[in-house]
Amino acid sequence: MDLGLKDKVALVTAASKGLGYATAEQLLAEGAKVMICGRTPESLDVAVAKLKTQYGSDAPIGSIAIDVMADNAAETLVEGTVTAFGGLDILVTNAGGPPAGTFDSTDISLWQSAFDLTVMSAVKLVKAAESHLKKSDAGAILTITSVSVKFPVANLMLSNVIRPAVIGLTKALAQEYGPLGIRANSILPGYTRTDRIEYLLTQWADERGTSPDEEAAKLGSGVPLKRIGRPEEFGKVACFLCSPAASYVTGEMVLVDGGAYPGLM
Ligand code: NAP
Repeated sequence: MDLGLKDKVALVTAASKGLGYATAEQLLAEGAKVMICGRTPESLDVAVAKLKTQYGSDAPIGSIAIDVMADNAAETLVEGTVTAFGGLDILVTNAGGPPAGTFDSTDISLWQSAFDLTVMSAVKLVKAAESHLKKSDAGAILTITSVSVKFPVANLMLSNVIRPAVIGLTKALAQEYGPLGIRANSILPGYTRTDRIEYLLTQWADERGTSPDEEAAKLGSGVPLKRIGRPEEFGKVACFLCSPAASYVTGEMVLVDGGAYPGLM
């Protein structure tokens, strides 16, 4: 199947590693021109070098080192993408997760910063991208959220409360932008073995005298597919949702969790 991504321009934030990187890689593999961002220039250099090794030294991949929370980050990213590649068709909003913790262990000061990181970064990116997406014949927004929008995950109070607002934003944008031909969807990952999860697996293994693989197996044992996800499995679904091949899909929340969420809706 041709996803129709050849020469489309995509901006994927928080994408030097993990789910963002996997999404950027699939978009690039399908012929899109892709801009990624992250806070650490060295990680971005590694990511770009890896992609150029795989897809050719002239592969259309660019990077901007910036924190999505920084003032004018959204404008800098959108303008940087348009300047580099001549437009913007696809916006994928991603950011680091808010800190873990229960209600009692979460300091009151963390709530506002978690909201700014998770919700306002997406709001500002859409605002900055809006005029370019309206000019595109394949405008698409994809927000990366979490299974925590379907059920509260233990010890993730901030994520459980704040991520659902991104779903509200995505669904409302699908309604408002649908008549303009711009689609908006969200993708909800379950446990996926990115660097972030690898760090946790190693920490648990050290504490329990096991190995990261054993900890990953434990985590996956409660999932119908009996394992946690691989980043590329996430990236492929994300890439499809962003592509013109998904032209009649908007306002959707797509779980990529191996069947972990047991609910009907
Ligand atoms: P990851 O492996 O740690 O990768 C995170 C990426 O985001 C890195 O490239 C990081 O680069 C960048 N980043 C983090 N904070 C940023 C910021 N403020 N501004 C710009 N770039 C930033 O994480 P991941 O597992 O891919 O997770 C991505 C998102 O999905 C997170 O919100 C996470 O909570 C959520 N999620 C993940 C899973 C999972 O199992 N992996 C499940 C559900 C939800 P720098 O550090 O250099 O900035």
